[in-house]
Amino acid sequence: MLPKRRFYSGVFLILLLITSCENDGQPSKKDLAYKQNKLAQTKQQPKDPFAWKPIKCDTNKRYIYLTFDDGPQNGTTACLELVKKLNVKATFFMVGSHANSENLATLVRTIKHNYPQVLLANHSTSHANNKYKFFYHHPEMAAQDFYLAQKTLHVPYKIIRLPGNSAWVVDSVIRASGLVKPVCQQLDSSGYSVIGWDVEWNFNHKTAYPLQRPYKIAEQVDTALAKNHVHTKNHVVILTHDRMFRKENFTDSLAKFINILKKDPRNVFETIDHYPGLKF
Ligand SMILES: [Zn+2]
Repeated sequence: MLPKRRFYSGVFLILLLITSCENDGQPSKKDLAYKQNKLAQTKQQPKDPFAWKPIKCDTNKRYIYLTFDDGPQNGTTACLELVKKLNVKATFFMVGSHANSENLATLVRTIKHNYPQVLLANHSTSHANNKYKFFYHHPEMAAQDFYLAQKTLHVPYKIIRLPGNSAWVVDSVIRASGLVKPVCQQLDSSGYSVIGWDVEWNFNHKTAYPLQRPYKIAEQVDTALAKNHVHTKNHVVILTHDRMFRKENFTDSLAKFINILKKDPRNVFETIDHYPGLKF
């Protein structure tokens, strides 16, 4: 047994040796690594998932913009799950007043956070209460309705689809009917782009069941592109509604339609923020 005093002085000597090894005027390896790590952390800005990146358009390709309107609603989840399963891009134009429960508001956030596969876009707050003439005859009020949806839904880009009307504000050109032109001008001056549609998958307004069969709507898409019956050559915007696909057999129809389009190697599915001529 060592006497207590000798034992403590031994321990002190060892501690002194360790400290002097580490602090011989130079920072230790551990210190350096810690400082470098801290520096890297301060330099690294959190990445913005919505920092918009342009795509290079290939003139041999045909760009397909699959859009779902009026969500969040019955059918939205089925559409989201399907596009994820089939690995295609799509855009959801959503309505502020439809996000009227915690579950539906969560669904909007889910859509938003699945970017870049799917994009959340603005389809107004009130959907004009389905009184389109009144809504568009009051362009200032209508514009406010869109600005509110932009805020409440936390829409990442200033991209709008008008309820009940196909109008375009792209490439600084407004193509709209007399009824909606004033609101389009207002939205344009506030930095918004407005997207209409080239091909619509129609539905029965009582049941919301889709009217055209998958091969038929795929044929319409082909014809529109081939005959250049589209707003921008080689770019086709397809309008559908989430609720059309809430039943499993119609979700299957949507899958068939997407798979027909996927077979053509010229087709590229994109989200609407990559449509040519939008403001960013
Ligand atoms: Zn709508």
